[in-house]
Order: sequence, then C-alpha cells, then structure tokens
Amino acid sequence: MQQDPQVESTLVQTTLRSDVVFEGTGLHTGTPVRVVLRPAAANAGVVFRRTDLSGRPAMAALWHDVTVSPLNTRLMNSDGVTVSTIEHLMAALSGCGVHNVLVDIDGPEVPILDGSAAAFVRGIVAVGLRPLSAPLRAIKILQEVTVRDGSASARLSPATTLQIDFEIDFADAAIGQQHKTLNMANGTFVRELCDSRTFCRSADVDAMRANGLALGGTIENAVVVDGAEVLTPGGLRHADEAVRHKMLDALGDLYTAGAPILGRYSGHRAGHAITNKLLRALFARPDAWRWVECDAATAARLPGVGVSMADLDAVA
Ligand SMILES: [Zn+2]
Repeated sequence: MQQDPQVESTLVQTTLRSDVVFEGTGLHTGTPVRVVLRPAAANAGVVFRRTDLSGRPAMAALWHDVTVSPLNTRLMNSDGVTVSTIEHLMAALSGCGVHNVLVDIDGPEVPILDGSAAAFVRGIVAVGLRPLSAPLRAIKILQEVTVRDGSASARLSPATTLQIDFEIDFADAAIGQQHKTLNMANGTFVRELCDSRTFCRSADVDAMRANGLALGGTIENAVVVDGAEVLTPGGLRHADEAVRHKMLDALGDLYTAGAPILGRYSGHRAGHAITNKLLRALFARPDAWRWVECDAATAARLPGVGVSMADLDAVA
C-alpha cells in the first residue's frame, strides 16, 4: 500500500520521503532533460539547481525571480541562469502539499511530459511526504488586489481556502468560452485539474516554431485545436480541459508566492505574466496580506490535504 502523503503532516511543513526522477523533453527547447526531486530541509522552499552548469547554480522558485514570458514561467537568477516551464511541476508540488524540495535539473527547461501535471503528481504521491518539525505558514489575503493587461485581468481576494475561478474566451470553437470555479481543498487538484493538458491553436504552433519555440511540442503533449476541430489523437480528456489547464497553470504560478495562499484567485483571460504581475502587486501592498501560522482547521483546508493514490486511478 502507498502511504497517503498527508495523513500525519497537516500542521507542519513537508518534504518528499525520497527522490523522484522524471525524464522527458523540453516543450520549447526540444532537448532531453532529467529532473530529480530531492527531499529538502524545513524552510528551504522549492529550489531549482542546474546540475549541467559549473558550480550547479541554485535559485528559489519565487515570484521576484520570475521573468515575464507570455508562454511559460521562467526563473532567472542574478547571473542570468534560467529554468523555464516550471509551472506544471509547481502546480503538482502545490496540489500535493510539498513545501520543501530541491529540484535538480540538467538542462534549461522542465520536461513537458504529456503536457499536464499528472506524471509529476503520480511520482510525488508514489513516494509520499515526510513531515518536518517546523510550523506551516500560509499567506492570508486581507484585501482585494487586481491587475489588468488589456482585456485580461487577475485578482486575489479574501477567502478561507484557496479558490481558483477562471474564465477564458477563444475564437476557436473547440475551446470557445469556458468558466470554472474550484475550491482547492480536499485533494481537488488531483481529481479535477492535474491531467488537463496545455493547449494551443495550430496556427500558433507555426508562429512559435518560427520564433524558435515549441520545438519539443507534438500533438502528443499538447492539445492542438484548429477552429472547431481537436487535432490531438484521442480528443479531449475533459470537455473543458482548456480552462482546467489554465487553473492548473494558475495554481503553479501562485506557488511562487513561497507558501500556500489562503484566498480566491480570479483570472479572466489571464496567463503566466499577469499572474506574476498580480503577485508583485500583492507583495507591494503590506496591507493586503499577512503570514499566518496554520492551525489544524486551516491546514486541513490546504490543497495537498486529502490527496490519495486512489484519486489518480480515475485520471488520465
Ligand atoms: Zn500550462
């Protein structure tokens, strides 16, 4: 039997019980990459380390080191060393309640795998979590904070759990308008979001390739749509897979706050850049948030609590 990762670790910080390895290809670079998630000490947070570079430079996965990029979330340290496309792994870590982890990576981009976070979740849940002897802190939203960029907007507002509300509107009929709201408590991420894949329009694939992006993209690791048609074999995993994936991205991007958030995120046509802009706006407003040490009731409402292997059997 696998351990339920959260049974005994609700009030304190966690890390992994042992290493987890993932191998795949970077979506944008198209190059092979190997990632090893390693247990880390309390208060370490999520730290990426480029093992292919001399000195193995490390960087914390925090909002102030995220560079603005329309297509993915990229960390860059003060020496210009980068790790790209961290968002699906970050979503898995957040959604499974992993607070501290060292992510060794031998290339510039996290592997895309099947375009969702399901493989990351499977690996994390298979090894399980270990409680650490340090209190768990969360970021409690006290005041509404909103940012806009053209027709896109993102907002954080007070709530007792992490809630994600997302609305998208695409011209392609295969996506169209989609709106979904989920409370991230009780293992919701694993059941509802983790297997939803990244998506794009076939016209965008040509444009991205012309710009040297999406070189590792195939119709196997992204949902590709053209008008009303879904080109990816097997079609959609959920009728509203696109908005679910945007919620997955938001959960991952919000985890660069450095701790679980207690609040409601509302995204309207939002993406990685605007969610980062939202975190920057939040942390520029000391009146809009505060640290809280989690009591049992608060900790029980965080995203990783209630995740189990049984939930993964039901998803792709
Ligand atoms: Zn994504």
